[in-house]
Amino acid sequence: MRNSLSVISLGLLIISCGTQKKSHTAVVKPTLPQVSLVKPEVPLHKPRIRHEGGVEFFKENIGDITKNDNTASYGSIVSANPAGYKVVKTFFPAVGQNFRQRYIILHYTALDDDKSVNVLTQQSVSSHYLVNDLGDNEIYQLVDENKRAYHAGISAWRKDKMLNDTSIGIEIVNAGYKTDAGGMKVFPEYSEAQVKKVAALVKDLANRYMIPPTNVLGHSDIAPTRKQDPGPKFPWKKLYTDYQVGMWYDESVKDNFYMTAVLEDYTLQMTVPSFLFKIQTALRDFGYDINPNGLYDDATKKTIETFQYHFRPENYSGMMDAETWAILQALNLKYPNK
Ligand SMILES: [Zn+2]
Repeated sequence: MRNSLSVISLGLLIISCGTQKKSHTAVVKPTLPQVSLVKPEVPLHKPRIRHEGGVEFFKENIGDITKNDNTASYGSIVSANPAGYKVVKTFFPAVGQNFRQRYIILHYTALDDDKSVNVLTQQSVSSHYLVNDLGDNEIYQLVDENKRAYHAGISAWRKDKMLNDTSIGIEIVNAGYKTDAGGMKVFPEYSEAQVKKVAALVKDLANRYMIPPTNVLGHSDIAPTRKQDPGPKFPWKKLYTDYQVGMWYDESVKDNFYMTAVLEDYTLQMTVPSFLFKIQTALRDFGYDINPNGLYDDATKKTIETFQYHFRPENYSGMMDAETWAILQALNLKYPNK
């Protein structure tokens, strides 16, 4: 295969040079590579297929990382079974393919264990996994990873929209927020056992599907005007430092931005359209679905609040401040949106 590709390149080179020189020398046109319909003795990519309990699996990676960004292929093979015909899969797997699973989205259920199971299995909402609050070692799978679960709803992150199509949803049993007398949202803690389960699960998924840190997100990140889960008590920093999962900023980089950021008067700046436009643009560049308009409107407040749930959980006022602004700039530097 490699030899024939070299010959083709050489052939193209001759044609190209010949055209420039207007030479009359006859040039032999290269033959384009053809996949033979005769089964080759050695399969093109030699996928070995494992049979287990009536299900077939690719034993080894048949993808090509130069063609897509997450292409390892293994796992169960779902095939057609047309009456009277045989589907042949040993000899012709394509390198141009990737996983449907490109995001991991975390949620809380705002329900107890029993109600979470009932709602997520019996109603129109669902998730791939459910992490209970029982302190045991079980994680419930409700939907096949290859299928869509209905957990994200109207959602967007960077260039992607409607993330049910491309994500694995994980619901965590947690009571969700209550609003106190002062109108502040108060969120309950996650148990340590739950956090460990979620971290192990996210790590396994991210490794298997080569999901980048920028695509491990909370529901509120992808739907900031509608959602608050998993909320500010979910320890994203711990996931990053203890399990190398998801995004977090570098402290020293944040400190550098902070030295400049702290000079601003934010109560004043949040009334200045050019400053609002600047922070809205930074939030959009990072990934949030926000339209920069220079106004401190409801969508902007909620998007800042959502950002704070994830990256600055000590204060989720929805107001920009020096700490939040420094963190946002440090993250944009570390995880540029190409
Ligand atoms: Zn949710």
